[in-house]
Amino acid sequence: MKNIHKIEKNPNFLEHLLIIVGSISMIVVVALTAITTYNSAREDVLNIAEDDAVRMGEIIVKHYQYDLFNKNKLNEGWSSLEIDMFDRHVKDFLSPFEIHKIKVFNPNSEIVYSNERDIIGVKDKNNKSLIKSLKGKINSHLVLEDEIVDLSEEKQMDVDVVETYFPVYNDEDEIVGAMELYVDVTIYRDEIIHRVTTSTISISAILIIVFAISYFIVRMGSKEVKTLLDKLYNMAVYDTLTGMYNRGAVIERANKELSIMKRRIINGEPPKCLGVIMLDIDHFKKINDTYGHQAGDQVLCELSDRIRQSLREYDIYGRWGGEEFVILLPETDHENSIAAAERLRKIIMEEPFSINGTNLNVTASFGVTCCYDPYESLDAIIIKADEAMYEAKESGRNSVKSI
Ligand code: GH3
Ligand code: MG
Ligand code: MG
Repeated sequence: MKNIHKIEKNPNFLEHLLIIVGSISMIVVVALTAITTYNSAREDVLNIAEDDAVRMGEIIVKHYQYDLFNKNKLNEGWSSLEIDMFDRHVKDFLSPFEIHKIKVFNPNSEIVYSNERDIIGVKDKNNKSLIKSLKGKINSHLVLEDEIVDLSEEKQMDVDVVETYFPVYNDEDEIVGAMELYVDVTIYRDEIIHRVTTSTISISAILIIVFAISYFIVRMGSKEVKTLLDKLYNMAVYDTLTGMYNRGAVIERANKELSIMKRRIINGEPPKCLGVIMLDIDHFKKINDTYGHQAGDQVLCELSDRIRQSLREYDIYGRWGGEEFVILLPETDHENSIAAAERLRKIIMEEPFSINGTNLNVTASFGVTCCYDPYESLDAIIIKADEAMYEAKESGRNSVKSI
């Protein structure tokens, strides 16, 4: 309901609402798309790297299980010669792959082998991922822009790696340890960026098209509403034949003038008066009867033009009904109101009305009153002007009378 009033006051409200709602929705949808695509691409990379790591780990375990997880060796530890040999084999084996680090743990979370030799023998006891893997659960996480030393002892800056922990089983299907592999996934960076940009661009393009179509439809609709409102306003305010204010609009404007006068009184300013003229065309029925209703209409229009031209910019005038007109003269005293009516009477009388090539002599009778008391009712003021006008009729028409 509130919104309907807003539309009435401002038909562009719907367009503004659509722009605001559309822009916010677009930003939210595009951001959500980017986030979702990024997360799903990240998840894919994680899965690929995890699969690679587990597969690689299985091959290593298959080849070196006896050495790696031999119970005695696990307890005693390896001789440095054994570590050297294993180290060389593992590095040779892993060199074609994007694997930067390998750690082998025994069930007590001790590192029994790593390509970083100085951490061999260290116990990694609070590592949750390791604990999980020792309980049989494969798990991975992505570390972005990491700095690591790779298998060939070279320092690698700004690499994205997936660290995967997975359990190692013996032939009896018992967990005999765990492995951790660092798989380099930096090569997927561009792929992720590409996926995110492609999806956000596509969704933006679709949204822009949908938004443009909706905006176009709403714009057309609000234009129609505006035209209709203008039409309604004109119908409500103006007289369709003469284009002057209708009775309702004259009443509204008169009440406004009375309010201004009241405000002056409240503010202690000297009171001003409102001149009111009631004008009625003389023997108008005769004009209709003699020259036709259309000619009568043209007389009404011509008379309206003469009223319009003869008054001040801030005077208010309108068609009261039929062939009667009301003129309001703000801040005009009795004497000047009578003078204005007299001037108008002459303007109507002196120049014949040229209707369809025929010159018609038209006259009108005027009733004038002046309101000094804004607390007087408008009805009472109009009645006074009307009474004065009837007096003018009775005194032979084509004259001005005042009360
Ligand atoms: P008086 O001098 O006493 O005012 O006589 P009059 O003939 O002007 O007054 P009366 O009230 O008898 O007639 C008014 C006529 O105005 C009657 C009506 O048909 C005519 N009239 C009212 N509205 C219109 C209109 O919009 N167009 C035309 N052409 N005539 C109208
Ligand atoms: Mg009349
Ligand atoms: Mg008349």
